Amino acid sequence: WHFFSVVLPLGAINPNIQTSTATLLLQLVAQGQLDMEGALTARDRVGIQDFVLLDETTEAAFLSNLKKRFSKDLIYTYIGTLLVSVNPYKELDIYNKKQMDIYMGVNFFELPPHIYALADNAYHTMLTEFNNHFILISGESGAGKTEASKKILQYYAVSCPSTTLLNTVRDKMLMSNPVLEAFGNAKTLKNDNSSRFGKYMDIQFDGQGDAVGGHILNYLLEKSRVVHQNHGERNFHIFYQLVEGGSDDLLHQLGLERGCQHYNYLTQGQCAIVQSINDKNDWKTVKNALQIINFDETVIASVLHLGNVRFDSDSKGHALLNNNTELHWVSNLLGVDAHRLQEGLTFRKIEAKKDQVLSPFTTDHAIYARDALAKAIYGQTFTWLVNRINESMENKDPSRKTVIGLLDIYGFEVFYVNSFEQFCINYCNEKLQQLFIELTLKSEQEEYEAEGIEWEPVQFFNNKIICDLIEEKHRGIISLLDEECLRPGDATDLTFLERLEEKMGNHPHFVTHKLADKMTRKTLERGDFRLLHYAGEVTYCVVGFLDKNNDLLYRNIKDLMCQSKNDIVKECFSSMDPDSRRRPETVVTQFKSSLQKLTEILMAKEAWYIRCLKSNESKQSGQFDEALIRHQVKYLGLMEHLRVRRAGFAYRRKYDVFLKRYKPLCPATWPHWRGVAADGVEVLVQHLGYLPDEYKMGRTKIFIRHPRTLFATEDAYEKC
Ligand code: ADP
Ligand code: MG
Repeated sequence: WHFFSVVLPLGAINPNIQTSTATLLLQLVAQGQLDMEGALTARDRVGIQDFVLLDETTEAAFLSNLKKRFSKDLIYTYIGTLLVSVNPYKELDIYNKKQMDIYMGVNFFELPPHIYALADNAYHTMLTEFNNHFILISGESGAGKTEASKKILQYYAVSCPSTTLLNTVRDKMLMSNPVLEAFGNAKTLKNDNSSRFGKYMDIQFDGQGDAVGGHILNYLLEKSRVVHQNHGERNFHIFYQLVEGGSDDLLHQLGLERGCQHYNYLTQGQCAIVQSINDKNDWKTVKNALQIINFDETVIASVLHLGNVRFDSDSKGHALLNNNTELHWVSNLLGVDAHRLQEGLTFRKIEAKKDQVLSPFTTDHAIYARDALAKAIYGQTFTWLVNRINESMENKDPSRKTVIGLLDIYGFEVFYVNSFEQFCINYCNEKLQQLFIELTLKSEQEEYEAEGIEWEPVQFFNNKIICDLIEEKHRGIISLLDEECLRPGDATDLTFLERLEEKMGNHPHFVTHKLADKMTRKTLERGDFRLLHYAGEVTYCVVGFLDKNNDLLYRNIKDLMCQSKNDIVKECFSSMDPDSRRRPETVVTQFKSSLQKLTEILMAKEAWYIRCLKSNESKQSGQFDEALIRHQVKYLGLMEHLRVRRAGFAYRRKYDVFLKRYKPLCPATWPHWRGVAADGVEVLVQHLGYLPDEYKMGRTKIFIRHPRTLFATEDAYEKC
């Protein structure tokens, strides 16, 4: 046994070898043909494939293992059943049908770590236990979440059993990706293909494991990007795809010029051309997919034209349309009256008693109204698209289904200037971290409790305090923001900041210029507030918070859109909020309740986790930025997760499963054990010489503290 315990990690020597090869290596060592050092060097070269097997649980050991594996393009490593993934920033030849076949139906730990193994394990657990699952993919912007979710979807689409009829659902599921990415992703400073909306997708399976339907829930799209992009960033991909890839005929029909340089909404970030993106090619894929759901490009074109509508001011400072051409294109494409559109963009309609008074806009106001319309058109169209995709994937068969949910949401992000959008995105990440903490701690603790096993809990940093700071009723940042938004009179972004300062006072996770100590003050502007998030500090500039949260569209414009002759536009705006007299919920409040619902959906399912790490800030392959990765390992709570895994019992097996596999190792259990499975297991492990400290007998499972114990047993099994 001593021998085994030394050599144990051999199972992890090479990710491509299986236990039998490890056994062979052991034999070579035993026969003196390979020295132990040689075997261990082999292990050193590729690291360990499950962190639970590390000799020590220090951060240094963790990072060194990760780095070793990364340098060999081994981007996946487990912590028990959690998958850690490091973005390689290069194509790896590990995502193909052959690899999928290798992982189909194979036991989790028998093959090198892979995202397919996790997908397959969730799938088979779902089939055998007939329950619902979800895969939570987290990590900061650019860490590889969206790629991971695509790999999983492909795995299910390709490897699950299929019938011709069902293939159509599957095709639609796969097709939904390029469409939603075109409309919902954009180049940011963090990621050339950054998701600017949250996506939760249920894949529904029938009892045979056929994928029979899908459903997408979308979360808060970053609409402000339609009208404004920071330096080095782009608008949503679809615009560039259209003006670069659209045929001459199509562009002519839409009144568009070829090339993004002609459009104000596309050039603010001054980086329309991106090396890693081929808009022309992407257009072909997207165009085909759009045709299937009967979407035509007029709406996209109308937004581009709107962006080119300019205003001058007359002698009184009132807005005047600079020229009519663009406006006519907009009215043409949207199927609305040009005169009324012009009026809507330059006048505000005020209802005074029975009369309607037109009050002229300043140019600033007119620009505001124009941008608000562009954002509304785009945002509504996005929702329309999601609905259409959902209809096309809908499963019409009423028999009971199980689902695997895939959550791919915008990651935590910190820019030089952070605004309302980052506030919402980072709030969302706080919530998901909270969910992770609750579920990992909860499920682990519950299992020990249910099985009657004693254990000592490991301390986590609990980010509940930050979630509360943001969302607590009446006192949280969201409540105060809403109050200011609804307060009639002189509320501004700055009065919002003052309210925050009054209420948050000395909260340990909240700082502003006024509240800061001398040192910190130097790093804060007067219009900023800083939150100490679980993943790091973020300084938010309050400018625009009230406006973006209100997201108001002038009523006369909205009414006009409801009369549009374009079916999509009409449908979109008519469904906006049926009771137009009532003030719609603010953006952040809608977001908060959608996250609440999401949490409930997820809590009712069994969880699988993928933690994505960003390898470096410059999107370079082969670069392992240790400081950057250490930071992520820290805030994602990976060390604590590992400690929980190890403080408890690394492995557990149902008695009958354990007995069935290992009974040949003991004369008393082979070939048949006639008693209760638990007793058989007890006899078996006694025979194998398990020490009392190494295992515990629960109610339905045996718990094994060290993986090496199980590995030794597995090795013995291989040999016998
Ligand atoms: P996130 O969704 O976490 O913001 P993405 O999944 O969009 O990040 O990944 C950002 C970029 O990193 C991708 O466009 C791709 O270039 C690269 N990348 C991510 N994961 C992988 C992977 N598994 N293999 C190769 N490249 C990857
Ligand atoms: Mg993404």
